[in-house]
Amino acid sequence: MKELDAQQTVAKERLENVKNAKEYQAVKSEVEKLKAKQSSLDEELLGAWNKFESVQKEQETFLQDAEKKRGEQKDIQEQKQKKIDEHKALLEERRQQRAQREKGVPVDWLERYAMMRSRVADPVVPVQQNSCSACFWSISHQNMLMLKRGQLLVCKGCYRFLYIPKELVEQEK
Ligand SMILES: [Zn+2]
Repeated sequence: MKELDAQQTVAKERLENVKNAKEYQAVKSEVEKLKAKQSSLDEELLGAWNKFESVQKEQETFLQDAEKKRGEQKDIQEQKQKKIDEHKALLEERRQQRAQREKGVPVDWLERYAMMRSRVADPVVPVQQNSCSACFWSISHQNMLMLKRGQLLVCKGCYRFLYIPKELVEQEK
């Protein structure tokens, strides 16, 4: 554009100093050509500028979106961390409760429990209709009486620990 301006200035100066009509026409047509070239360059420049602006806007929107998503991810991450912390605290609380309760239980029972726990998901099961609710082994009358007195027994069929639910004992009373 600068170069075109300079060329136009030179041409205009020449226009002022022409000696005859023929030379005047030649220089004038040169000026017209330069003007046309300038106007088409102006259009091109405007087009490029508009394109630049729209790309810039797109980029701004993209960056805003990315920032928003990052914020959302951070929130989710924080919520997850909060839950993990809560579970950790709960686990610690349960560990302490468990240690407290284990104090009154004979060591060999704890060992048997640990062994069963490593083999099955439910090492302690309730009695249902005079049978083990896991393997349906029928429980003798004598053992039922012991269980009703609150004693813990091991099932002869599957070796799980048996107990009678409190509600059932109370019902019979
Ligand atoms: Zn059983």
